[in-house]
Amino acid sequence: MSLRYEPVIGLEIHAQLLTESKIFCGCSTAFGADPNTHICPVCIGLPGALPVLNRRAVDHAIRAALALGCTIQETSIFARKNYFYPDLPKGYQISQYERPLAVDGFFDGVGIIRVHLEEDAGKSLHEGFVDSDRKTYVDYNRSGVPLVEIVTRPDLRSASAAADFFSRLRETLVWLDVNDGNMEEGSLRCDANVSVRPEGTVPLGTKAEVKNLNSFRFLQKALEHEIARQIEVLGEGGRVVQETRLWDAVAGRTVSMRSKEEAHDYRYFPEPDLPPLVVDAARVAAIRAEMPELPDARRRRFVEQYAVPEYDAGQLTQSRALADYFEATIAAGAAAKPASNWIMGELARKLKEIDARTTPSPLPPERLAGLIALIEKGTISGSIAKDVFEKMFATGRAAGDIVAAEGLTQISDESQIVGLIADVLAKNGDAVAQYRAGKTATFGFLVGQVMKAAAGKANPKRVNELLREALGA
Ligand code: ADP
Ligand code: ZN
Ligand code: MG
Repeated sequence: MSLRYEPVIGLEIHAQLLTESKIFCGCSTAFGADPNTHICPVCIGLPGALPVLNRRAVDHAIRAALALGCTIQETSIFARKNYFYPDLPKGYQISQYERPLAVDGFFDGVGIIRVHLEEDAGKSLHEGFVDSDRKTYVDYNRSGVPLVEIVTRPDLRSASAAADFFSRLRETLVWLDVNDGNMEEGSLRCDANVSVRPEGTVPLGTKAEVKNLNSFRFLQKALEHEIARQIEVLGEGGRVVQETRLWDAVAGRTVSMRSKEEAHDYRYFPEPDLPPLVVDAARVAAIRAEMPELPDARRRRFVEQYAVPEYDAGQLTQSRALADYFEATIAAGAAAKPASNWIMGELARKLKEIDARTTPSPLPPERLAGLIALIEKGTISGSIAKDVFEKMFATGRAAGDIVAAEGLTQISDESQIVGLIADVLAKNGDAVAQYRAGKTATFGFLVGQVMKAAAGKANPKRVNELLREALGA
């Protein structure tokens, strides 16, 4: 009989902090510049160049740590993590080690061990040059870009749970404007630590670390593969060795990079050129006071306060801008459910068309509320409203103006509808005969004909009722 194993996973996540300049110098952090154009003596580590801490980076890190439920330590210390690598011109990375900025959080059911500040390294370019087969180039634009590292407790129990957690963490960091969430550009990446243990036992197994996973899918696939690999090793009577592995996306498996025996001794020591970072309670309180309501809390409030379905609440909180838009539409007088329907439906479709990533600005929320009011009052029908919406979106004009200018007001005079029905019945004798013979599906056809005759301006519900009366049904 074979043992059943339980996976145990802890994540180390690196998130680039959204600042214009680097963490210890004034160089730009903009992505995509020509190689080595955003560098200076500080970030390439020339002797005598002195680092100066970027205040905004610290504020962002505090914001992230608070959202993760951490305690901000009044004093934290930068250290030098020494190792030799071509993308590290100083020969050391400045990172917080023994005293990190924040500790002991809890987020989305997972314990957070620490959140600390550090600088990013440069980038080795192994391809794209004529002599790439013989040479490696380095681009130092990224060295000194501010990062937070978030380290979780080994609280995750499956590959999919780890991917979900990472995705919710991303959502929160982006929501806070702390990180741009762009995993393709490397703004957010994850190292996954994983071990397995016999189900029902307590001691942790030996872990392997899979480095540099830059998509949710890769994280999940790499973990699935690594869990299966470890179970197989144990099943064959072997033992898992503690090592660093890489995910080979093409081969669909993890491969060993270096074992514990080859692991670096980083010879950490406090950075002599930077004083301890002191964050007083007042600064933390000020940042906490300005924190936006987080996505999860907002979703719950939308359900409670506006009685929208959970699904709607999820859609409406895809971004902070969209959630704000929804609430502004309600503040302008719209009822919640119609507002939600329009935002999730027509507005989302139009915004996708114009590829508006951040703000749904072409149509102010007051204007959408105005359109919804016209429908509620019965001034225009739902189908006309869609046309009006298109025109509002394209021109920025108010719904009322468009309706008045184009004579789109719903027919309020019922005798007019009755007249249209009589015409349609007269012209469609066959359909009427079929209906009377029991082919009730023709009723829908007749409704359609009346709506068409009314140019969409009749109230479909009334048309249904009056048509039934006319058919003597
Ligand atoms: P290391 O000293 O190797 O860096 P840490 O104790 O600092 O290990 O933990 C690093 C990460 O590995 C954390 O996210 C932690 O939750 C996770 N981790 C530690 N031990 C295990 C284990 N046995 N199985 C899975 N993950 C683990
Ligand atoms: Zn610089
Ligand atoms: Mg560690």
